[in-house]
Amino acid sequence: MGRVYNFSAGPAVLPEEVLRQAAAEMLDYDGTGMSVMEMSHRSKPFAGIIETAEADLRELLQIPENYQVLFLQGGATQQFAAIPMNLMRNKVADYIVSGSWSKKAFKEAKLYGDARCVASSEDENFSYVPDVDAIEFSPDADYVYICQNETIYGTRYPKLPDTGDVPLVTDVSSMFLSEPMDVSKFGIVYGGVQKNIGPAGVTIVIVRDDLVREDVLPFTPSIMRYTTQVKAKSLSNTPPAYGIYVCGLVFKWLKEQGGLTAMKAKNEEKAAILYDYLDQSALFKATARKSDRSIMNVPFVTGSDELDALFVAEAKSHNIESIKGHRSVGGMRASIYNAMPKAGVEALVAYMAEFEKAHA
Ligand SMILES: *Cc1c(COP(=O)(O)O)cnc(C)c1O
Repeated sequence: MGRVYNFSAGPAVLPEEVLRQAAAEMLDYDGTGMSVMEMSHRSKPFAGIIETAEADLRELLQIPENYQVLFLQGGATQQFAAIPMNLMRNKVADYIVSGSWSKKAFKEAKLYGDARCVASSEDENFSYVPDVDAIEFSPDADYVYICQNETIYGTRYPKLPDTGDVPLVTDVSSMFLSEPMDVSKFGIVYGGVQKNIGPAGVTIVIVRDDLVREDVLPFTPSIMRYTTQVKAKSLSNTPPAYGIYVCGLVFKWLKEQGGLTAMKAKNEEKAAILYDYLDQSALFKATARKSDRSIMNVPFVTGSDELDALFVAEAKSHNIESIKGHRSVGGMRASIYNAMPKAGVEALVAYMAEFEKAHA
């Protein structure tokens, strides 16, 4: 059986070249006579893997010297707790709630201090991003938190909030490495890799040096302290070694593709094919506000639950997988990450046009 066009939101499609290379190296990594899966995380070959991965990531994102790069476990969700535990010195933090993920992060932070929701778009089912210029941030906040691309509702920030000296923390799980970003604008940039980078199990945290401090909330488990992980270079305990290796292969692949500027152009082109079709369609409609649309996750509906269900059911016969929308939005969602080829988006649009004709 051949490969399908996999529109899953995560775990998600990976570059075929990367999967082939991982397969080729499965039994014998670089003449070691063993798989990366079988290798000590303290061994020389693994040190090479994680150091090269970090160097390539730094190059791709142009990460400044005063930021640490951590490869952790626990998912983005563990960071919902780790961030307040490590950063809440005044025990105050501002959250912009623009979807399920930032809402979950906000709820978690409330366990540890005075987390404040300073803006929300829940009034319109998170179909837009709150106007960041209209927000009054707390002067005593330890940080301001955003989820820059909301995977479920398909929105992304058209503009970042200006938080002055207050560190801005961003969850970029579903847009990680989809385009260049200015890391120096943030205190922390983090995300789970299973959306746009690699296999589930690795969380990348990029944290500015001044936020790696000993004076964390006293009950913070040592494994969740950034100081612990920075000192141990992510090897405080056994890291998600195989996942880090695959991330490293993806970083090399991204460099071969021309880096993040080239990825951005490709991603914008793919997103335009889909949105252009949606905007002229008499049947399908994109659900996110036009100015705030994600170029990674594209939710859309027909307006009829029956037709949505039929579209999802018949997708399989068009080689299209995991196109069903999240239950909180309904309808469909196409996640068109870095590794989704343009041909996949074209195949989706061709199927949509055929479906629209049949059900006009
Ligand atoms: C998937 C997702 C998460 C949760 O990630 P886990 O690794 O499953 O904890 C958090 N934030 C965003 C934006 C996501 O897309």
